[in-house]
Amino acid sequence: MKKTLILLACAITLLVGCKKNSNENCNEKQFVYNVEKFADLEILRYEVPDFDSLSLQQKKLVYYLTEAALHGRDILYDQNCRYNLQIRNLLETIYTAPDGIVDRNSEDFKAFEVYLKRVWFSNGIHHHYAGDKFVPEFSREWFHRQATNPEWHYGAVGEDGEEGQKALAELMELEDVIFNPEILPKRVNQAAGEDLLLTSACNYYEQGITQAEAEAFYNAMADPSDTTPVMYGLNSRLERRDGQLVENVAKCDGHYGEKIQQIVYWLEKAAAVAENDQQKAVIEQLVEYYKSGDLRAFDEYSILWVEDLNSRVDFVNGFIETYGDPLGKKASWESIVNFKDLKATHRTELISQNAQWFEDNSPVAAEFKKPQVKGVSAKVITAAILAGDCYPSTPIGINLPNSDWIRHLHGSKSVTIQNITDAYDKAAEGNGFAEEFMWSDAEVQWAKKWGNMTDNLHTDLHECLGHASGRTLPGVSQDALKEHHSTLEEARADLFGLYYCADPKIVELGILTDPDAYKAEYYRYMMNGAMTQLSRIEPGNNIEEAHMRNRQLVANWVLEHAKDSRAVEFRKKDGKTYIVVNDYQELRKLFGQLLAEIQRIKSTGSYDEAKALVEKYAVKVDPELHKEVLERYSKLNIAPYKGFVNPVYVPEYEEDGVTIKDIKVTYTEGYAEQHLRYSREY
Ligand code: ZN
Repeated sequence: MKKTLILLACAITLLVGCKKNSNENCNEKQFVYNVEKFADLEILRYEVPDFDSLSLQQKKLVYYLTEAALHGRDILYDQNCRYNLQIRNLLETIYTAPDGIVDRNSEDFKAFEVYLKRVWFSNGIHHHYAGDKFVPEFSREWFHRQATNPEWHYGAVGEDGEEGQKALAELMELEDVIFNPEILPKRVNQAAGEDLLLTSACNYYEQGITQAEAEAFYNAMADPSDTTPVMYGLNSRLERRDGQLVENVAKCDGHYGEKIQQIVYWLEKAAAVAENDQQKAVIEQLVEYYKSGDLRAFDEYSILWVEDLNSRVDFVNGFIETYGDPLGKKASWESIVNFKDLKATHRTELISQNAQWFEDNSPVAAEFKKPQVKGVSAKVITAAILAGDCYPSTPIGINLPNSDWIRHLHGSKSVTIQNITDAYDKAAEGNGFAEEFMWSDAEVQWAKKWGNMTDNLHTDLHECLGHASGRTLPGVSQDALKEHHSTLEEARADLFGLYYCADPKIVELGILTDPDAYKAEYYRYMMNGAMTQLSRIEPGNNIEEAHMRNRQLVANWVLEHAKDSRAVEFRKKDGKTYIVVNDYQELRKLFGQLLAEIQRIKSTGSYDEAKALVEKYAVKVDPELHKEVLERYSKLNIAPYKGFVNPVYVPEYEEDGVTIKDIKVTYTEGYAEQHLRYSREY
């Protein structure tokens, strides 16, 4: 299973919302998670708890790595489209023009401001997720007037002679790219039958190189007998020189050399304050790779990195994910700096250490249990900076490296980023979601108190125990359930987690302090699976994605089997549909029954039963309920996409002005302020 960025789980956490009474805690200094909203986006802020508890050396390490992260910013802009940096510069110049020059009160200016903020969000002129070029809602005439204002103008525009002519031509070209929908309409074109390179705006291949040429180039490079192949093409731009295709490799004295030299400068400072020899070796090997551009050196770095499990501070910095290249070869640049969340990691370790107890006591039939089970100990991290392709929009988990043979021989690191999921949860408080969809104030209040904690616990149980539990009978193939495998596998892991969220053992281990806390997760799970996740499905569509199918399967199966006991049911109030849980312990029994059933189906490889379950409960959508959910959801005006501003790390110096004596983290920088500063400093 090759998995890179974990994005799905955010759908879980995003759906927990509850309202904070603004009169409450007015003496307490509250962290402000919501920054601003525009277009289809919301900007949030994340906290870096426990940064102050790091040693000075660790703080320096984090600081140097964050500088190395931020220095790569322009690489991604350029990778996304060859005009991005020029356009960003043009827009920022107009945006920051002296007062009285640009008409800031006009509707055009407001639309222009939104456009610039979207460019920052997407690291370019195409939507970060959909990949389509934005349509500006300000006029080209207005824009041209601002840029060519004789009292102040962009670059050499308006000057006499050749310089002025050239500058004007450049301005017009950028205007064409911004305003003409025919030019570079898509960042990554995936439509079959078209030349994917000629029709994509991304900048990994020089203009004019065809898909067939690029494919032939890389096919010739690959050696099928190599059992440890590098990821060919990962860190380069394919260009044409004297009629020949050549790779322009990213390295200190190559492509993006100026930026990479800065990154290396800060990585070398980081290596000097590494926590231990192994971590030092990781950083030095990365520097080595940035100097040579050799992908073998990158693989060596990846192996050292994946084997460094003891350091508190960790980071990703490099050309990692290939979603931005229609051929899936070339990686966008990204960086995340983080450190281990000791408390949350302790939680996953506790769960893992008790894996055998959980296996032995599950409601699954004895013959389908694992006699010897090893829990997976997931690392939970706190992000300290997001950069490149992880900023402003970010994953909530990381599973790297991507090289298949390294994963196979050396394993992978899988982490969840808890301060980011916390920020999503906290920012959703007050968006009205819980009030709209939860049955009564009691559920809203319980979610507010326990929702975040029990949702994280459920994810831990799912990851650390659920997938690792159970055994397949001898002779049964691992993929006997074929296309329904993923749905049932996710359902099995979810149900294992749900069953144990409510177990006294969890309180006994000290993970939860209130034996009723689990009710928050039970209610949320049923509401989401049976109703609110439908807000992400287009009208008329079925459910296709495996995690979503699993959630509806669980919720609908339980609702049907609770008909007699009425442990959980749909109820109407003022014409609206709600989930009502009447008996939580009975609900737990039903989760246990379905777990036993699904484990039996998996253990025996019963394809027909798997198919029947999925088709009956997981795929089809009740059109009436779907319509109702979409209507209620749209009234809440919740932005579909979210991203972040970073905290700012401020070193404090000794009197000599050089020696760092402490580093403080601050959270006051605004969205536009941050991007303008990044453009100046990086
Ligand atoms: Zn899973």
